[in-house]
Amino acid sequence: MTPVYFDNAASTPLAHEVLEEMLPYLRQHFGNPSSIHAFGRTTRSAIEKARKTVAEIFNISPSEIFFTSCASEANNQAIISGTRTLNCKHLITSKIEHHAVLHAVEYVAKNDAVKISYLQTNAKGQINLNELEQLLISNPQSFVSLMHGNNEIGNLNDIATIAQLCKANQAYFHSDTVQTVGHYQHDLQNIKTDFIVGSAHKFHGPKGVGFIYVKGDNKIGPYIHGGSQERNMRGGTENVAGIVGLAKALELAYAGMQTHQAHILALKTSMIEKLKIAIPGIQFNGDCENCTTSLYTVLSISLPPSEENDMLLMNLDINKIAASGGSACTSGATESSHVIEAIQGDTNRGTVRFSFSRYNTMAEVDYVVHVLKKYYVS
Ligand code: PLP
Repeated sequence: MTPVYFDNAASTPLAHEVLEEMLPYLRQHFGNPSSIHAFGRTTRSAIEKARKTVAEIFNISPSEIFFTSCASEANNQAIISGTRTLNCKHLITSKIEHHAVLHAVEYVAKNDAVKISYLQTNAKGQINLNELEQLLISNPQSFVSLMHGNNEIGNLNDIATIAQLCKANQAYFHSDTVQTVGHYQHDLQNIKTDFIVGSAHKFHGPKGVGFIYVKGDNKIGPYIHGGSQERNMRGGTENVAGIVGLAKALELAYAGMQTHQAHILALKTSMIEKLKIAIPGIQFNGDCENCTTSLYTVLSISLPPSEENDMLLMNLDINKIAASGGSACTSGATESSHVIEAIQGDTNRGTVRFSFSRYNTMAEVDYVVHVLKKYYVS
């Protein structure tokens, strides 16, 4: 068996079409996009072409897209620069956001006069929109940061409804859309968020490049201070090849979205059914058994208490299976996850996250189920 890569929520393999598109910008087109000569104009025009491609996909103006080094930077810019420039007094988020959001929120709490509220989550990791509405009503000048798809348990938030609630209460809405960009449609004329972010390496693009969407009338400051690149929104010479690769990867993801979705969803649903038969007592973390309210790309499983749990990821690795942890375990064999801790009742259970891409196959699902069965059913 060739190695099975089921860790696509961490990073995806670069699509070969994306690499081909990037290569000229790594080989011959090296000019600084800020230079006025022909070398610079070539790379400048590649960046603007990429911006137009991204903007068309989200149904927005190219002037609302700014390229960054990653989604962590984009989240930091939205939250830290956003709350500062927009003079927000109150920040609402949840405990199961990615650290790129949570640690930025902690920075704001420490450095700025902004009150922080964390929405409660139930045992499935779901937030309560009534609680959000009440907080918005009682706290003017709010900034809300809630992710679209949870990277660990796959839960999807209804960002269109959250955006409506925010608009109705004159609050700003930032959504960490890292796990859904390239996998779901985002028509930003219908989903009225103020900020979304993306990261190319989550949809078969290169690492080290991301973007932030800033809705036209929100003037926020830069997060990286320096030159006047990205219309004064981000100092630093642009990662031209990365930006070209991001746009190509996004284009491919959207062109094939229905086909990819059907293929990946079939893998996830089949794995759920096969695991239920193979491993008595298996459970699924968060809402991820429900494929309409969770990412079709993520399956987070909860294994019955067993001495195998501490060595789970290592045993998978020995069997050439790449997956990710997330256990609130005590041995140090896997990193403790704040998301699982926030929702988990029984810390003796083992957690592993499998995440799929369009390059995975049903044979790989069968192999992984077979390997898990070996460890959990004697
Ligand atoms: N937000 C979510 C939900 C993620 O899954 C990730 C990456 O794991 C990030 C933010 C950070 O993205 P990047 O690697 O581009 O900084």
